[in-house]
Amino acid sequence: MNYIDTLLARNEDFARAQAAAGTLMPSLPEQLPHVKAVIIGCADMRVDPAQLLGLEPGEAVVMRNIGGRVTPGLLQQLGLLGRIGEVAEAIPGGGSEFHIIVLHHTDCGITRLAGNPEMLAGYFEVSEAELAEKAVTDPEAAVAADVAVLRAVTGLPPQWLISGQVYDVATGSLRVVVPAAPLRTS
Ligand SMILES: [Zn+2]
Repeated sequence: MNYIDTLLARNEDFARAQAAAGTLMPSLPEQLPHVKAVIIGCADMRVDPAQLLGLEPGEAVVMRNIGGRVTPGLLQQLGLLGRIGEVAEAIPGGGSEFHIIVLHHTDCGITRLAGNPEMLAGYFEVSEAELAEKAVTDPEAAVAADVAVLRAVTGLPPQWLISGQVYDVATGSLRVVVPAAPLRTS
């Protein structure tokens, strides 16, 4: 049995269990009111939000890239996501809680790109001189920088709660860098 066969067998188990439990989600619009968060995290295999946050299926939209960074590409996807799912419109006005969570981690591979400023500048679409603001070698500063970028996106609903965390790969624990607060107060 090769690896893909293993995965296919696991999927059969998953499909059977989900069907038996009645927890399949065949229709996106029906599911939207149950989504509690958008999580922006790193592609690193050690930092899967579903695992380290114990996410239930359908609980969060997880967007992962190199470093879990808020790049122009990520923002473009966030905009497309809003149009596809109309996530913002699915959140009942006023009191209901919806989170946007920036999740970086220690020992991130992006720190190893510090010697390749031209690649990083392309990734963030900034000049090499502006790269320092992205703090690629300091996860806590990077979380703060990305939260600041998201706060400046006027298309996001102001009542969404934004927070930033750093996951420590050595301990398995999260460190809160930016406590949850509304994106904007007007
Ligand atoms: Zn990483």
